[in-house]
Amino acid sequence: MISSEVKCVTFDLDDTLTCTHEIFGDCIDRVCGIMAASLAKIYSRDLYSKVRIKEAFTKSSDSAFETEHVNPNRWIHVLSEMKETFPQLGDVQISICLDLLMGIYKTVPELKTGALPLLESLMNRNINMGLVTHADEDWTKFKLKTTGLDAFFDRENTHIINMYGPKDVTGWRAAYHQFRVRPSECVVVGNSPSDDIIPNIELGVRQAILLRDGPVWPVHETEVPDSVRKIKSLNELI
Ligand SMILES: [Mg+2]
Repeated sequence: MISSEVKCVTFDLDDTLTCTHEIFGDCIDRVCGIMAASLAKIYSRDLYSKVRIKEAFTKSSDSAFETEHVNPNRWIHVLSEMKETFPQLGDVQISICLDLLMGIYKTVPELKTGALPLLESLMNRNINMGLVTHADEDWTKFKLKTTGLDAFFDRENTHIINMYGPKDVTGWRAAYHQFRVRPSECVVVGNSPSDDIIPNIELGVRQAILLRDGPVWPVHETEVPDSVRKIKSLNELI
């Protein structure tokens, strides 16, 4: 249980309160399947297997993340790179894949196990909450509304970090400024070692909690200090 002395609990959104990784994973799998099926009509299946296509897609997607961050338009760069690597991909297939990838931002995510009971219990105990997310603004509003998380997070206690840049210490500092709390008075809960935990340790947060309940994108992986509490479910915080 989170101590009542904590002034504010700040949450990351994607893969901390909502199951977002699954939406991206399923979509990327479908996109690579379409590309593999299209190339198999021209070449032998072994030459351009789905596994090989997925490797190329992941490499391109990781490198687009470094420059484009979480801007949805990064998929345009990824697909144009895929077209360069696999010139036989038709424009129709590329367009279908782009539509599918943009569909990510219209898919209602499921809430993580324990998310609602945890938020309700914090609300009942009058512990303030803040949401610090790194995503397209319209997509954030869509997720909050469709999952019911907008009952806990409104304009005042939601901070959206610029999607064209990284989620780093500058963004987190601005969030605490907006919430009018000092990091030393707060507990942070996030799933990304690089984007949630490390910046908050730098800011001197009272406690950093890392949710590890599934796969993490390799671009988010980094070592965290032993002082970081690791949990497998949000239920552990109730
Ligand atoms: Mg996250």
